[in-house]
Amino acid sequence: MDISPWRSEEQLLLRGVQGRAGNLRGTRRAPGSDAAFAAVPVPPASDSNIPKGVPGVRTMEIYAMREFDGHELVVFGHNAAVGLHAIVAVHSTTLGPAAGGCRMWPYPSTDAALVDVLRLSRGMSYKNALAGLPFGGGKAVIVADPRTAKTPELFEAFGRFVDSLGGRYITAEDVGTTTADMSSVARATRFVSGLGRKAGEAGGDPAPKTALGVYLGIRAAVKFRVGRADLSDVSVAVQGVGGVGYHLCHLLAADGARLHIADLRTEAIERVCDELDAVAVPAGDILFDDVDVLAPCALGAILNAQTIPRLGARIVAGAANNQLAEDKDGRALQDAGVLYAPDYVINAGGIISVAREYAGGVSEAQVTAEIHGIPARLTEIFERAKRENRTTNAVADQLAQDLIGPNTRKMVA
Ligand code: NAD
Repeated sequence: MDISPWRSEEQLLLRGVQGRAGNLRGTRRAPGSDAAFAAVPVPPASDSNIPKGVPGVRTMEIYAMREFDGHELVVFGHNAAVGLHAIVAVHSTTLGPAAGGCRMWPYPSTDAALVDVLRLSRGMSYKNALAGLPFGGGKAVIVADPRTAKTPELFEAFGRFVDSLGGRYITAEDVGTTTADMSSVARATRFVSGLGRKAGEAGGDPAPKTALGVYLGIRAAVKFRVGRADLSDVSVAVQGVGGVGYHLCHLLAADGARLHIADLRTEAIERVCDELDAVAVPAGDILFDDVDVLAPCALGAILNAQTIPRLGARIVAGAANNQLAEDKDGRALQDAGVLYAPDYVINAGGIISVAREYAGGVSEAQVTAEIHGIPARLTEIFERAKRENRTTNAVADQLAQDLIGPNTRKMVA
């Protein structure tokens, strides 16, 4: 992994070392940088000093982290003047430049942000490969609360950070970021997608496209599990009715599904309940609701040793990235008789749209047709897992790894 400092007028940092309070310390300090980042003496930059750390300071052992998967590049970007603390992880550029969204979230620590971006970027490599896109996998996280910290200047600074990577990473929306934010990013870099578009052209907000793929994927899972061709009277619990979940609810309702929904935001719940016939369920109960299908559309790691034994649904098929806390949770789901639609296969609609927008010259109708390929891909995975008595996530991972190939990095290192 190349952990290279981002040098520009903005500033910098990194080298894989972390201070006690979960803050990163820099290789050098620019005027205006956060004091916490420069509070520790910085050893000379060389690979040999990365894992050792400094007495009293916990070292961030990136290479030893469970989430580290031979990532090509991990870069930390900082601009104190606009409050930007960001990490970009490029997992693989074997199939093309790394594409994946930018998540803005108030992570409790830099560790938590790093874990997330490492996992999410690997997922993007697999997602892009299985969706047949000419892109590798990458992701960005901005550590901040999207409800309070957004400014155009922050996203422009993030755009300069992305630009400094010279096209190795292409960004777009994810949780906490919008098309308007990406417009600010686009003032500083051309390596961005998910922007406004003219009618009929591919692109724009990826959430409705993701929702379409998830809806088609739920239909495929229901057909595979119970042989039903439509969703009439099928009950679906949607965890999170934000960008994707909201559109998913509309598609499900139009197909006759019975909706149970939960969100942390009252206004999001009210919007769906006002527009559709939906039952609001407390956020703490939605995973365990007695329904046919659980569609996680909030954050990741919700399928774990604590939740799996209590799940009410026999099918889990939703948009959230990294739904399994660990790969072995896929086995626990299978042992519990739950059919799991691998997240990065079912939620590829958005990246298909973003990728085709970036490449240009593709119509919205062509994107929609491509998204209609998701259910066939899922069904192939379900069938192969059943035939080989393997988990659906293991089958999907292997298919993706076969496409990416081992150690054939192209653009970095
Ligand atoms: P969003 O931020 O617009 O919506 C997420 C919603 O989940 C919010 O309304 C939030 O309040 C709610 N939420 C958070 N924690 C919750 C909890 N514990 N219980 C109930 N609700 C909770 O995000 P989004 O764009 O809709 O994305 C949802 C998920 O799908 C994310 O995991 C994202 O990475 C994934 N995803 C999104 C896209 C896309 O196109 N937007 C593409 C692929 C994957």
